[in-house]
Amino acid sequence: MAGIYVHIPFCKRKCVYCGFFSVASSRWREAYWDALCAEIESRRDELAGTPVATLYFGGGTPSLCSPAELERIVAQLRRCYRWTDEVEFTLEANPEQLTADYLAALKSLGLNRLSIGVQSFDDEILRLLNRTHTAAQAREAVERAAQAGFDNLSIDLIYDIAYRTAGQWRTEVRTALALPIRHLSAYSLTVEENTLLARRVREGAAYLPDESDTARDFDILTEETAAAGFEQYEISNFAKEGAVSRHNAAYWTGEPYLGFGAAAHSYKAPVRRWNVADLKKYVEGGRPSPLPSQGWYESEVLTSEEQLEELVMLRLRTRAGLPLAEVEERFGHARRQALEARLRRVNPENYVLADRVLRLTHAGVLVADAVIAELMD
Ligand code: SF4
Repeated sequence: MAGIYVHIPFCKRKCVYCGFFSVASSRWREAYWDALCAEIESRRDELAGTPVATLYFGGGTPSLCSPAELERIVAQLRRCYRWTDEVEFTLEANPEQLTADYLAALKSLGLNRLSIGVQSFDDEILRLLNRTHTAAQAREAVERAAQAGFDNLSIDLIYDIAYRTAGQWRTEVRTALALPIRHLSAYSLTVEENTLLARRVREGAAYLPDESDTARDFDILTEETAAAGFEQYEISNFAKEGAVSRHNAAYWTGEPYLGFGAAAHSYKAPVRRWNVADLKKYVEGGRPSPLPSQGWYESEVLTSEEQLEELVMLRLRTRAGLPLAEVEERFGHARRQALEARLRRVNPENYVLADRVLRLTHAGVLVADAVIAELMD
C-alpha cells in the first residue's frame, strides 16, 4: 500500500510559530493548480500500480481551497493512481472555513477524515499565536463537522505555552475531549527559525516555559486523554479505538508515499525526495517531464546506516516500539548487537525492553531526541 500527500501552501496570514512552508498571498495560486496537476501526471508511474490507501491534503491551509479547486486535484489523482475502496482521505482545515455548505462539498468529494487546526480554546492565546479564528468558532466547527457526517475527526492543540497555568491547560484538554473527536494531536510549542515567535523571543518580547512546565503539561495531556479512552499511539498523537491516523502510521512504518506540491517530501526506500520550497520555482519547474536539472526537486539515496537511524527515530516515537528482530532482519546481526550495546548508555528510566521490543517510557518520551541520539551515536 502507498500514501499520497498534497501540499497546499496558502494561508490567510502567518501564525507566529509557523515553520511550515506556506505564504499569506494568492499570487501564484492559479498557476499552482496547473503545476500540481502536471506533477501528479508526470509521476504517475512511480507507484508502479501499488494502490493508494491514504490521501492527505496538508499545508498551509487546504480548507482555503474552493470545492472546485479540490475537485480538480482529486480528479487528477483519481485519473493517475489506483485507490483502495477503503482509502483514508484527510484534509487539514481551519475552523472558520468549515461552513455547512463547505462540509457538504468535502463529503461529496470523498473526504472521510478532517484534521482541524484548533491549537487552543483560549481566545487570548489564539490572539497571541495570530490564529484567524476564535475558540467558539473552533467548537462550532467540530460540532458542525460531526453533524455533517464526519465521524473521524481530529483536532490539533499546542501545549507548553507560557502564561498558561496547569489548570487552564487541563480545562483546554477537557474541552477538546468533550467534543465529538476520535483523534487528538498535541504538540509542544517550539521556536522555529525565521518565525515571528523566534524574533519575539530574541527581542525579549516573548518567553518560553522551562522544562518542568513542559513535563507538567505533558503529564496533564496523557492523564486526561487516557481517562477519556484515548490511546497514546505516538508521542504527539492520541486516538480512540479504530481512529489511528493510517496516513501517519504509514510514515512511521516506512511505507512508500508520494508528496506533491511545493516543499512536499516523498519516500520510497531507499530514496527520499523533496520538492523546492519556493512557489515561483515550483510553478515554473513543475511542468510535465521535468528534469532534475531544473532544480525544482532534489533527492538522495539513504545509506543503510541512515535507514537504520530513520527506523530507530520513527519507531521509538510510537507505542508499538522498535522490534529488535526487525533491526536484525533488515540490517544484520552486527548492527542489532551494536544497538543493544549502546542501550547501556541510556538511563534505564527512559526505556523498557520487553519481548525484544524497545519502547520509551513516559519519562523517556520527554527526552526522546536525546535517547535516540545516544542510541545512534
Ligand atoms: S495556518 Fe498552519 S500553515 Fe498556515 S501559518 Fe498557521 S500554522 Fe502555518
